[in-house]
Amino acid sequence: MEQTSRFRLETPQKTIEIIQKYNFTFQKKFGQNFLIDSHVLEKIIRAAGIAEEDCVLEIGPGIGVMTQCLAERARHVVAVEIDKNLIPILSETLEGYDNITVINDDILKVDIRALACTYHQSRPLKVVANLPYYITTPIIMGLFESNAPVDNITVMVQKEVAERMQARPGSKDYGALSLSVQYYASPYIAANVPPNCFIPRPKVGSAVICLTRHEKPPVSVRDPMLMFRLIRASFNQRRKTLLNGLSNSPELDFSKEVIAAAIEKQGLSPTVRGETLTLEQFAMLADGLTE
Ligand code: SAM
Repeated sequence: MEQTSRFRLETPQKTIEIIQKYNFTFQKKFGQNFLIDSHVLEKIIRAAGIAEEDCVLEIGPGIGVMTQCLAERARHVVAVEIDKNLIPILSETLEGYDNITVINDDILKVDIRALACTYHQSRPLKVVANLPYYITTPIIMGLFESNAPVDNITVMVQKEVAERMQARPGSKDYGALSLSVQYYASPYIAANVPPNCFIPRPKVGSAVICLTRHEKPPVSVRDPMLMFRLIRASFNQRRKTLLNGLSNSPELDFSKEVIAAAIEKQGLSPTVRGETLTLEQFAMLADGLTE
């Protein structure tokens, strides 16, 4: 697609030029750390596997650096930005692109199904973003739990969060986030990104993670919400045995005897800790408790 833009934003100097021109002040409350490294940008786009027929949802376009690159690869880009001060900037930086829609809203309030219907004939969208770190988990889990038409999420997140999403049973990073994400998608860390690739520099390291949504969950469970309550209860009291963690949880109202019997029925030791259980074992435990 042949397109022109007044500004190509791929150099840090261009970003600084735009920020100064508009006297833009970074807002910590919106998690604003703008990416200024074109190699990292290229890695994200490549990891997302954008094809010509795709419609991409970009969360938090900032001044539009990644938006420009996405628009050059995809059929359409819908960019949702909460900060109204960035909207006039985006009008300038994205001028000349006829396949971008900018929406000034909070992503947590946007109806993604309606976006897919309007811009992609209800087919699944690809999500690509350098996420605001203060709401990474609500955004990702919101997309999964609402069953939004999204088949692929490629996002920059805090490195530690990416590691938790990808962690396997028994590792120190394994927890409720690992299990919740892995129930919906298969995670893969595509790149580690140091703080000097952003302005302002974040205090933590970052990573690009790709989450490919499962067509169907890897385990079958009668009551997935009960399974997630069991998972949360097990990891809320990580030091305790599974039996004590579940019996003490205010979210669950099974007696200690019933829980002990369900644990035993799975062939697990009565002193097992929740952090060693796989997703499949949590699913079987939930099924055991609903029998
Ligand atoms: N994409 C840009 C880049 O890579 O340089 C900016 C990334 S910055 C880490 C996060 C962006 O998300 C900011 O532009 C911020 O204003 C925006 N943002 C923060 N909270 C948001 C929300 N709830 N809904 C939509 N955008 C949000």
